[in-house]
Amino acid sequence: MTIQATASSVPVLIGGNWENLSADEYTDVYNPSTGEVIAQTPHCRSGDVGRAIKAASKAFETWSVTPVTKRGNLMFRFRELLVEHAEELTWLICKENGKTFDEAKGDLARGMETVEFACGIAHLSKGEGLGQVAAHIDAVTTREPLGVCAGITPFNFPAMIPLWMFPLAIATGNTFVLKPSPKVPLTVNRFGELFLEAGFPEGVLNIVQGGKEVVETLCEHPDIKGISFVGSSRIAKQVYSLGCQHGKRVQAAGEAKNVLLVMPDADVDTTVRAIIGSAFGCAGQRCMAGSLLMGIGDIGEVKDHLLGALSDLSLGNTSEDQQVGMGPVIDGHSRNRLLKVIEDTDGAGRNPIVRDGRQSLPDSGFFVGPTLIDQVTPDQDLFKTELFGPILSVMNPSSLDEAVDWMNRLPYGNGASIFTQSGGAAREFARTIQCGMVGVNIGVPAPPPLFPFAGWNNSFFGDLHMQGTEGVQFYTRQKVVLSRWDNTYKRVNGW
Ligand code: NAD
Repeated sequence: MTIQATASSVPVLIGGNWENLSADEYTDVYNPSTGEVIAQTPHCRSGDVGRAIKAASKAFETWSVTPVTKRGNLMFRFRELLVEHAEELTWLICKENGKTFDEAKGDLARGMETVEFACGIAHLSKGEGLGQVAAHIDAVTTREPLGVCAGITPFNFPAMIPLWMFPLAIATGNTFVLKPSPKVPLTVNRFGELFLEAGFPEGVLNIVQGGKEVVETLCEHPDIKGISFVGSSRIAKQVYSLGCQHGKRVQAAGEAKNVLLVMPDADVDTTVRAIIGSAFGCAGQRCMAGSLLMGIGDIGEVKDHLLGALSDLSLGNTSEDQQVGMGPVIDGHSRNRLLKVIEDTDGAGRNPIVRDGRQSLPDSGFFVGPTLIDQVTPDQDLFKTELFGPILSVMNPSSLDEAVDWMNRLPYGNGASIFTQSGGAAREFARTIQCGMVGVNIGVPAPPPLFPFAGWNNSFFGDLHMQGTEGVQFYTRQKVVLSRWDNTYKRVNGW
């Protein structure tokens, strides 16, 4: 955190205008591959957030009565612009987040799927009707927008997570105030430019920047009706409590500790490929990253193949080189925190470090190499705590039942995957595991936008998840109209 802006300051979008604020506080935006500061994010004050909410409230007056087909058509246009600018956006994600080119492409592609989902809003937001619920009375429900909604997003998916929120909220007739992570504000601002270019009216999407003060203002402001949050569980819980206390709908997704369970009959090649993608893709900074590898019986062959593949994984500058195998973590704080976990584990001498991510790191940037820690047990912090980096802990339960028992002791409930050729084992696993997203021979069981992103326990606070029909329900409320039309007109008019 610095006090004065030196690199270019990131503008905010209020009522269709881009403004350069002079703030008291800024967050440095890094290129994590090099450690260079590429921009600075100003922290808005409550007054700036209030102006954005006011602009959104004004826009709501006309946007909420804009025909649904027109809303859908503008969303199609936004989608086309995202396609047109996909390569530029992908490099921007690499630059501000450190993802590899393919990972950044995936971030954008998954986000665009949500935009495509939102394009079908006319069909998605249809209500229900039932004729003759009583004599001469018909009942019809419609889905009405809430008003101004807000989105607060984390650093790890600069494209996908903001796109989980504002397209669906806006397609359903709401207006929106988005606050991205101050660590990755650039992709979201580019979305803001393309959104205006698509023809959405001024004030429908507003973008503010900052941290705690902005978030608290959004949670407390009487004109905000719904809040979508994604980030750490501590802040998710705070946002949920504060938002609910102020009478808002809140959906708040938090941390995770996801398990990859390898059964003795698992196909080694498929499993190893999935483990690498899940545990080390995006440098382990995914809420669906597998961070606990449980093996039933002897998984020596899987471990050997895994170690071989990890030694081929090249670390490098993802903002320039499309072929890099693994990128950096987000900033120096994360790097030091993760290196300390490895150092402490090494110092304690309890768990063998089969692969040590402190070795052969690039000279600059925030790199941590892939790390494998063996013989972890359920009493250890390595089991319970989300590390959010490329560190995989290996555990050896004696049976499927014991593995499930261990997993169900975790405080979170995002994802878990099983690798097996046995339908029976897969079914038993899927039925008994206490989490919301289950993979069978899939490393990252993140559902496509037609389905909810269904975290449980401390991975989600709220009732309705993001994505899918739950997403549509979250951003709308139902109105039930009961109409009585009898035959009086015959008697009165003689028709
Ligand atoms: P974070 O909690 O630090 O930040 C998330 C958002 O909250 C940011 O916009 C940030 O500016 C804001 N914020 C930070 N401190 C705040 C405070 N004291 N008061 C109010 N707002 C505050 O999370 P992060 O480090 O950006 O993201 C990583 C976390 O997000 C991981 O824990 C990861 O598991 C989680 N995540 C969860 C999902 C999911 O769907 N469950 C998806 C992606 C990431």
